[in-house]
Amino acid sequence: MYIVDLTFDCYQDTTLEAAEQAIVRLVNALRFNGQIIGEEFPTTLKDGFFITRVMCPEEDALHPLNHSPFVKFSLDKLNEAGLLQPKVKVIGQDIHSNGSDSCTSPSSYILYTTYLHTCSPLYCGDDFMPVPLYKVPAVANGDFKALLKWQEDWQACDQIQINGATRCEFAAIKELADVDSDLFRRGMDLSKRIRFLTKKPVYYYLYRVGGLSKEQELSRKCPKCNGDWRLAEPWFGLFDFRCDDCELISNISWDFQ
Ligand SMILES: [Zn+2]
Ligand SMILES: [Zn+2]
Repeated sequence: MYIVDLTFDCYQDTTLEAAEQAIVRLVNALRFNGQIIGEEFPTTLKDGFFITRVMCPEEDALHPLNHSPFVKFSLDKLNEAGLLQPKVKVIGQDIHSNGSDSCTSPSSYILYTTYLHTCSPLYCGDDFMPVPLYKVPAVANGDFKALLKWQEDWQACDQIQINGATRCEFAAIKELADVDSDLFRRGMDLSKRIRFLTKKPVYYYLYRVGGLSKEQELSRKCPKCNGDWRLAEPWFGLFDFRCDDCELISNISWDFQ
């Protein structure tokens, strides 16, 4: 990922409030389109310039060709707040974060995230690299807000179950692991949408923890169709199960690994 500074110059008198609002609107629009990643975007005001620091999945993520309708609208709104179009300066590559998928046409996708991941929740099924969202058609209302909200909820549940210090823990695991959960229903709707738009398989990841024994876990069936889904070798070293009919993947219970 790349660290990028957006510099906003005031071309007429503006108020701090109006400028701030316009910048926040743009940052949200870029985030919902996958052009910037993360949740906190520090903004400084110096010598009449606002500078907002963001993270981008690719060096050219902010190219106008990638803009969503909401991004274009938010850029127009900057002028009303007395701000010029932002100058984009790529500071450099972040050494702590992972790269992005560069395949032109992945043969499949995987919907996957954990509480530790800040990158795109859509992975390439050929090399398991996170796919910049603006590279696939928008899932709803011109961008990926619905997908990113699903990711936020998945990560929140994951954080709760990893910490294991509240009574929400079991409810959280149910959301991550159960085909009857709200997170599953929402995630599957989004997977189906991406499948429809890209004409590629989109695998949905079901978390798995608990169970009675390793033997029982190894013989676990697909929770949707009850078919065999165990793989000879784990896919990307992570997914021990894959049902190509239901487009579901999962792991051997973390209790028996
Ligand atoms: Zn790839
Ligand atoms: Zn199945």
